[in-house]
Amino acid sequence: MQKLLPFLIFCICFNSFAQQEFEDLSLEYYLPQDVSYNEEIPKPQDVIGYIPGEWHVTHDLLLNYMRELARVSPRISIENRGETYEGRPLILLTITSKENHENLEEIRKNHLALTQENASSLNVEEMPIVVNQGFSIHGNEASGSNAALLAAYYLAAAEGEEIKELLENTIILFDPVFNPDGLQRFAYWANTNKSEKINPDPQDREYSEVWPGGRTNHYWFDMNRDWLPVQLPESQARIETFHKWMPNILTDHHEMGSNSSFFFQPGIPSRTHPLTPDLNQELTKEIGTYHAEAFDQLGSFYYTEENYDDFYYGKGSTFPDINGSIGILFEQGSSRGHAQETENGVLTFPFTIRNQFTAALSTLEAAKNMRKEILNYQRNFYKNARNSAENGAYVFGSNKDASAAYELAKILEKHKVEIHKLEEDLKTNGEIFKKNTAYLVPKNQRQQRLVKAMFERRTEFEDSLFYDVSAWTLPLAFNLDFAEDIKMKNAGEKIEKLSKPEIQPLEKSSYAYVMQWHDYYSPKALNMILEKGLRTKVGMQPFTLANSEYDYGTILIPVQNQKLDAEKMYEFLQTVTEKSNVQIDAINTGLTQGVNLGSNQFKALEPAKVALIVGDGITPYDAGEIWHLFDQRYDMKITKLDTRRFSRADLSRYTDIILPNSWGSALEKNDIEKLKEWVREGGTLIGYRNAARFFEKEDFMDLEIKKDSLVAENISFEERRDFRGAQGIGGAIFEANIDRSHPVNFGYTNDKLALFRNTTIFVEADEQSYNNPIQYTENPLLSGYISAPRLEAIAGTVPFKHTGMGRGNVILFTDNTNFRAFWYGTNKLLMNAIFFGDEM
Ligand SMILES: [Zn+2]
Repeated sequence: MQKLLPFLIFCICFNSFAQQEFEDLSLEYYLPQDVSYNEEIPKPQDVIGYIPGEWHVTHDLLLNYMRELARVSPRISIENRGETYEGRPLILLTITSKENHENLEEIRKNHLALTQENASSLNVEEMPIVVNQGFSIHGNEASGSNAALLAAYYLAAAEGEEIKELLENTIILFDPVFNPDGLQRFAYWANTNKSEKINPDPQDREYSEVWPGGRTNHYWFDMNRDWLPVQLPESQARIETFHKWMPNILTDHHEMGSNSSFFFQPGIPSRTHPLTPDLNQELTKEIGTYHAEAFDQLGSFYYTEENYDDFYYGKGSTFPDINGSIGILFEQGSSRGHAQETENGVLTFPFTIRNQFTAALSTLEAAKNMRKEILNYQRNFYKNARNSAENGAYVFGSNKDASAAYELAKILEKHKVEIHKLEEDLKTNGEIFKKNTAYLVPKNQRQQRLVKAMFERRTEFEDSLFYDVSAWTLPLAFNLDFAEDIKMKNAGEKIEKLSKPEIQPLEKSSYAYVMQWHDYYSPKALNMILEKGLRTKVGMQPFTLANSEYDYGTILIPVQNQKLDAEKMYEFLQTVTEKSNVQIDAINTGLTQGVNLGSNQFKALEPAKVALIVGDGITPYDAGEIWHLFDQRYDMKITKLDTRRFSRADLSRYTDIILPNSWGSALEKNDIEKLKEWVREGGTLIGYRNAARFFEKEDFMDLEIKKDSLVAENISFEERRDFRGAQGIGGAIFEANIDRSHPVNFGYTNDKLALFRNTTIFVEADEQSYNNPIQYTENPLLSGYISAPRLEAIAGTVPFKHTGMGRGNVILFTDNTNFRAFWYGTNKLLMNAIFFGDEM
């Protein structure tokens, strides 16, 4: 008891300290007091109703304030660049002097010219520097967006020589909320749980959000991984701004664990991507001295060159580094709610906001002072790239899946990469690239370094630890044919604006229609047909008709004995081809070569009624990727079944249930029995990643998972974490042999498939070879980092397993086939499990 007493006093001090800080909160707490502020400019509290930090700002209030600032301040203009999945506007403020605003387009064009040929004649003396400031891409790291209220006010209202000089020399692209939907979700949580008497007890409900939390966007994506693949509307708006302006500095304000102080880049030097120039990191370090000075003055602690890295170009603070810009990551220890006890005393929300605000201003100070140096850096980045340019071109495409090739080309188009058509069909290394389904990318072009970062395969690394994935090779992610040493003479016309792949118009048949299963969007077409209630079959074997070869998995729709007559059916299928952009062929005879249309090798299909297990215990990212895939790509309904309500759910409504990656067991004992019963009655259960252990433990499937037998030798205590970290697979790409006759592989045209994997679960192959339709090769690493013992372990194992159970199926994927919405190449594996699970 005696021991407890000092601790109690300690806590009480904490408590009253926090309370006092909130009661005394004023704008003076945040703002520099050595300048005056224009009285005409509304303060944040004039619009949102409170001093920033008292509450978590909701997106609508923040929006009101930014609009009001833009209305009254000649320094600020505002634009709306689109909307989130939940319909929230994606605004951008442009902040600079009134004079610069009047010449903005000219300034922009001059600035862009720095990255183009003949840039050496440009004089950077008079050029403003362009800074893109972005806040809270993780919605529950809210100090950033709340600091944006103050930064915007300061930039609109501050008076005097210093701000005048800053605005004359700087164009600020100010993005106050990178993630509107997530910020809104988190503000609701933190505000509804706030007590009048501020309670910093970390165990209070305020500090632990309900699943899935506010970090992610609507479909539970981590948007700070999407800067390169640009699959989400928020990233698309941001990337458009980026390429429109080519900012010199881009900042990304985050939060980290509550016991931490404040981090600014550079990160760990050995973990910088080798394609990033050394000078980028040196400039980052120099900019860091401005943050350090500002934080020293404030009395706030910080650290740098530790923990974080600059490797994956899909992150906001790393993407700029391959674009001649400088990306800077800020991480503030999080108060999560309004105030929380930590190892450093009570961490209040206003304190975290003030640090973010300070870093935003020190960035601008650095930009102003280092302006010419950084503008020259940008010019030289592109000049050096041009000087070291390789000749020739990359080509990618797919003769059978035009949509996948088109979707990759769309990413390049968003990044202003120069793309050409092929002049003629091209044969190289035994592969044929067709003129209308392949794209050529010249190596010598402005965006060449970015293109290289997207296309390269890398298997050697300076460091063995990665904050995120170690590989993202896009032609592999899209499962496309790819060649990288093509002569430029093969280049056809430059593509100014991409258009969807052309398909042949549907002809009318009175006998049958068939659809190949190759195209990325064929599941969308099939689902429309099944939902309409049309009798539909899948071909288990290939056949030929009138010189057309129909592959495994071809979909057959007979005309007779359907609920639609021949005319209505023709009209309906026309709609299907228009909506899915997938070709459907009319045929007038069943006498095909190979299996005939009346053969029992055509198996009847059922409409898919799919449920996805979500909620506590499930990884939101993995679940969200599947929800997004069904909802956005394939227009398929998917029911989100929450683990909390699973015991009360009527499972008989579903043909398929998907169990995404989970931590521990997401389901109770009774739920597991219920799930088994449903499978035995004919359901198809599809599990991902850690579901392997769950299936094994709960007897859903006979599995042999390799034991982890790694033993540390000559590894010191200090090295233990790195040793273990180096054995993980943060995300790398592996090659498997596939058996194309197995329904899980229908639609694939090659015997090899690239898979993305971020797990160390290795499943032994079955004795019967036909039970291993997807099997890793003996040396499967295609791109990314894996330790030598792990590479040995993965060889010859299987990422897919199917077992019959009663009248149903249990299917396992150890790899993530839906990774971050850009792994188009393996999405079909899941669709095959859904539509053809009963034929496995
Ligand atoms: Zn973050």
